[in-house]
Amino acid sequence: MIEWGWLGELRLVLEAVPWLGPMLSILVGASTGSFLNMMVHRLPLMAERRVALLGGVAPEQLPGGSAPYNLAVPRSHCPACQCPIPAWHNIPLLSYLWLRGCCAGCGARIPARYLWLELMAVVLFSLAAWRVGGELVVLLMLWVALGCWLAALCLVLEHDWLPTAIAWWPLWLGLLSAVSDPVTAAVALWAAGGAVALVALWLRWRHRVWPELELLALAAAAGAWGGWVGLVCLVVMLLLADRWPLRGGGLAVPLVLASIAAALLVA
Ligand SMILES: [Zn+2]
Repeated sequence: MIEWGWLGELRLVLEAVPWLGPMLSILVGASTGSFLNMMVHRLPLMAERRVALLGGVAPEQLPGGSAPYNLAVPRSHCPACQCPIPAWHNIPLLSYLWLRGCCAGCGARIPARYLWLELMAVVLFSLAAWRVGGELVVLLMLWVALGCWLAALCLVLEHDWLPTAIAWWPLWLGLLSAVSDPVTAAVALWAAGGAVALVALWLRWRHRVWPELELLALAAAAGAWGGWVGLVCLVVMLLLADRWPLRGGGLAVPLVLASIAAALLVA
């Protein structure tokens, strides 16, 4: 078990107060889901602005204007009426339900993704905490990996775009989480390689496309985190996908993510 200073003390507190762990998982999951929603909204525009800047577009003609635009600024605001969103209208899950999915200023609809992404983050983060137990370093790594997977899922579904950084982090973290035990590390490496081969062959022979490197990184992460169970879940998902054929290779991402969730449930 990896243990660093204050994390060891936190583990003792969590063992002494049984309700604290589930409570923290829900809070961290809901806040991460809210942050991911902001990321999914801003990353495509940030990428568009970077490409425009590299192409020599003047700052005042950038999409979204010349003011700085990143994950920290501007403050949360409604994209329809531009009015700032006060903190009490920005509480994960609760605000969406309280406002009935509409902006309090102009009544514009807030996409349903804001609700289901926060819900999925809460469910998956709690599931991860339940599976990993007291190994807090591993749990933190798995939470980061889950955050990357959820962001990847939304970006692929909404923008057909899988950013390289988001795709590779879960794999590195999955391999790192396995290094403390040689047998686990061997299984993780073997399953990661197997998952890459499976997805590559499936896309090549069934859909006549070569997979993108980012998709292979996601598949490898399913193996690294889920081990042989992750691999079995991946096979089941690919068989299901053959029964209900998908449009092209892009939708392979939801499949890989579903197999990761399934592996978390049964691993
Ligand atoms: Zn509005």
